[in-house]
Parts: sequence; C-alpha cells; structure tokens
Amino acid sequence: MPKELLIDKLANLSVQVGANVQQDQVVVVNGSTESKEIVRKVVEEAYKAGAKEVIVNWRDDYTGKMNVEYQSIETLQNIPEYAIERFKYFVDQGACVISIVSPIPGLNKNLDPKKQQAQAVASSKALNFYREHMMGNRSQWTIIAASNPVWAQKVFPGKDEDEATEALWEAIFKASRVTENNDPVKDWEEHNHRLIKHNKILNDYQFKSLHFKNDLGTDLRVELVKNHVWSGGQELATNGTVFNPNIPTEENFTMPLKTGVNGKVVATKPLDYQGNLIEDFWLEFKDGKVVDYDAKEGKDNLQNLIEFDEGSSYLGEVALIGYDSPISQSNILFFNTLFDENASCHLALGRAYPMNIKGGNDMSKEELEKHGYNNSMAHVDFMFGSKDLDIVGYTPDGKEVQIFKDGNFVI
Ligand code: ZN
Ligand code: ZN
Repeated sequence: MPKELLIDKLANLSVQVGANVQQDQVVVVNGSTESKEIVRKVVEEAYKAGAKEVIVNWRDDYTGKMNVEYQSIETLQNIPEYAIERFKYFVDQGACVISIVSPIPGLNKNLDPKKQQAQAVASSKALNFYREHMMGNRSQWTIIAASNPVWAQKVFPGKDEDEATEALWEAIFKASRVTENNDPVKDWEEHNHRLIKHNKILNDYQFKSLHFKNDLGTDLRVELVKNHVWSGGQELATNGTVFNPNIPTEENFTMPLKTGVNGKVVATKPLDYQGNLIEDFWLEFKDGKVVDYDAKEGKDNLQNLIEFDEGSSYLGEVALIGYDSPISQSNILFFNTLFDENASCHLALGRAYPMNIKGGNDMSKEELEKHGYNNSMAHVDFMFGSKDLDIVGYTPDGKEVQIFKDGNFVI
C-alpha cells in the first residue's frame, strides 16, 4: 500500500478540514519526534494553503521523561517567562493549531507521580490563558494521530514492529476516512453534514433528560442543562472560521446537568487511565455524584479517577455514537481517546465543555456553574454503548422520543 500517499492525504485533510488554515494565518504545529514524516508534510500543506508562518513545537517524549526524572520538583514547577511569552505570541497572532499525537504508552510508568503532577499543575496554571483561548474556540485547532512502533505493538501485540506500525497506520487512515481512492475533504463534508443534522434534531427537541437502557444492566437517567447545545463535527471559531477539532470524530455530545444523573451505567470497553487498564466496571450515580462502583480489573485506578478532585465524581459530557460507526466496527482498542471515545456512546467524568451551553464560551466559571456545569482538572471518557442500547428522550413538556434503538440513531 502506498503509505506515503495516504500520509499526504491525511496531512492535507488536517490543514484543509481540521484547522482550515486561512490565507496569511500563523500556524502552530505540535508534533513529536515519533511523527516527523507527517509533521513535515503538514508544514508543507499549511504553507501551500497560504500560511504566513508555520511554527513547529517539537516534543520528544524520551527527553521529556528525563526532565521529570532528573530535575527537582522546584525546577519542574518553574515555568520560565520566555516559555510563556511564546504562547502569548500565538494568542496575539491569532494562530491556529494542528496537533499530531503519537503516544508512547507506558513510557512514564516508573516516574514519580508527584513530580509529574507538580509539573502538570504548574504548566497548566502558567498557560491557563492559552488553554482558555483555544478551548474557547477563539481560533481554529485540530488533532490528528500518527502511528509509531511502541504504540502500534500495544494495539497489535501479536505483530512484529513493522507489521504493527503498518497496521496502526491503516487503522488510523480508515478511522480518519482517508483511503487510496477517496477525496477525504469531500467525504468529510458529507460526514459533517450527517453530524450537523443530528445536532440540529437534538437541539430542536431540547430534551430535559435522556434514559439509557440495555441488557447489560445500564439503566441511567441523565438530565441535561437548560439551553444545552449538542455539538459534534465541524465547529465555528469566534474568529469566524469553521474547523474540525478532532480527526476522526463520530460523536454528538452535550452537557449533563451536574446534579441530574441517577442510576447505573455499565462500561462496554476497557478504560485506559494513566497507563492502567480498568476493565468490566460499572458506576452508580445519585443526584449526579458517583455513589458506588466496581471493576473486575483496576478498581484502585477507578478509585483514583473518581477521587482525583471534587468534579471527577460528576459527569461533564454525554456523547452519542451509533454502534455502526467505523471505529466501533473495527473493534480495535487504540489506548488513545481520540479514537476510543469515537467507538461508542460515552460519558466523561470531570470537566464539561462551556460550548455545550448557549453562550457558554462567554460565561465566567461561576456563571457556568450556576447553570449546572461541572468543573474539574480531569476529563476522562468511558464507553458504554452496546448493540442493544436504547435511548429515550423526554421533552420539557413530558413527551417521549425514541433516539436510539438497538444501538443506533432512529431520529
Ligand atoms: Zn466525547
Ligand atoms: Zn470527552
């Protein structure tokens, strides 16, 4: 298979459809040393699309690991001014951002979690202005993925390095709707169309609550915030440019009411949390909070997640994905949210997205919380869709509408 051609197509897709790079725009490319081939292609495509300047943020996970290993906590917590200035420049320039993820699962497993946490907290505080800028969709941003041997052998443990790397590339292309014979940009237009259609139908109903039920034991009622917005697929940045934050994406998602979740949900896929697998687990909610849970594997890790902070025992996202979706059908566990969250209906423990409430991007944290928004440092998706999942929506005036039957949309 001519992999190079497909890499070109994926790079082009990230520029045209993902970030939708505009004439004379500054483009920031976040790429790891694991994925330099596609990073270079993305840079070239961005210039071809009219970028004024393309700035590559190279990240090397191996030297990043050494920093945490050898630096003191004090040094790790010191985020120098020049590093912050860089991000101020991106914001001032109205830069769009293309991130290419290529994780190395398990690399950091022997690092002191306290040091990792200290560095993460310090950097998220120092760069909070930047994250709010991007998460508030002030400019376009997108995430795509690239294969690497370590990740690939985690996904395909039976294959040798080269075979596994190829197989993971194939799975990435397929999930991203990039094939030898198609025009990915055109296919994404149609795909966006479908996602937007479902957003519109769901937004028009303004369901008060959703009831999820299947034979595994899921029986969960999720109230939604008033004036919630269903999102998914293409988004509109406040600079007026449409973009696709995730390639791939299959989900229509919105904001649960923080205190309005009751009942039990049974997960249908393992959850990879901080490099540890949690398997065969369920959660029980009362007035929004997890009050009971169990897991056949990794119960301690599930506990760590639920007790991470106050908000991580409440939900921040409910997402609908048909059982027929290509990632669901592939049955591959990617150990990466970009793909795994698109495999199945899911919920997220932790932080909600402000854009899932009307005018939310312009509200303060306090205002959002008044509307039922959940805040947390965590946001972890877990899958619970199944081929027999039924979803019924209740309108504000009490009408029942079947949304999913046997795992798929029926509206
Ligand atoms: Zn999601
Ligand atoms: Zn999520």
